[in-house]
Amino acid sequence: MSTTPAAGDDVVVLDGLVKRFGDTEVLTGIDLEVRRGEVVCVIGPSGSGKSTLLRCVNLLEQPSGGRVLVRGTDVTDPDCDIDAVRRHVGMVFQGFNLFPHLTVIENCTVAQRKVAKVGKAEAERRAQANLDRVGLGDRGGAYPAELSGGQQQRVAIARALSMEPDLMLFDEPTSALDPELVGDVLEVMRDLADEGMTMLVVTHEMAFARQVADRVVFMDGGVVVEEGPPSQVIGAPREARTRDFLDRVL
Ligand code: ADP
Ligand code: MG
Repeated sequence: MSTTPAAGDDVVVLDGLVKRFGDTEVLTGIDLEVRRGEVVCVIGPSGSGKSTLLRCVNLLEQPSGGRVLVRGTDVTDPDCDIDAVRRHVGMVFQGFNLFPHLTVIENCTVAQRKVAKVGKAEAERRAQANLDRVGLGDRGGAYPAELSGGQQQRVAIARALSMEPDLMLFDEPTSALDPELVGDVLEVMRDLADEGMTMLVVTHEMAFARQVADRVVFMDGGVVVEEGPPSQVIGAPREARTRDFLDRVL
């Protein structure tokens, strides 16, 4: 687990974030910071707004109100170069979203080449280093369909890391996996956390949140109900809604 960095070292700041879909307010004024090197896990029932929150960080959803700062840049400012911000933000979803017609190594080089304009040799070097990191250094020539779901998700992580992000967003990265494949993916995420990566992780894996998170955020109905160290939020929740949720999932 990382040490507590100095205040002011915020990688993400959500300041009164509001998101509406039509008349429905899905996020109701969320305040949240993620500091450099910190691992923040977001937990909460289905439909509570966790994915929407994550998607507002890199503008996959357009916030309806409030501010979202990423590395000090207000991404809700119409003048913001969102592509420049996204280049520093890796995202891993529940589905693996690999390109089926590209090999593993090509999946890990395509965005580097096209978005970050990295040269071929350097892109391949970074891709190989990150495939080694997730334990798939020998599978670069395989196609996604030849890999297990857990291996595909590790490729998706390697692909995101190949862009050399400052921040990694994970949205239930193990929820679509067969139970026996979950551990390898969580281990890769734990290694990343140990190496000091800044991570905002939506997860139902309470043991992971407990062991790896610096802070746990419990959301329900579009608000942050409770946040704090895992020993408090998971171990000794103060709020009845948090206790009810944990009683159902633990
Ligand atoms: P969670 O990830 O916690 O399960 P979501 O952020 O996916 O929750 O969804 C929060 C609420 O927003 C849900 O009620 C969902 O139906 C609604 N929602 C999410 N995306 C959209 C969308 N694109 N259009 C309309 N409603 C949406
Ligand atoms: Mg979700």
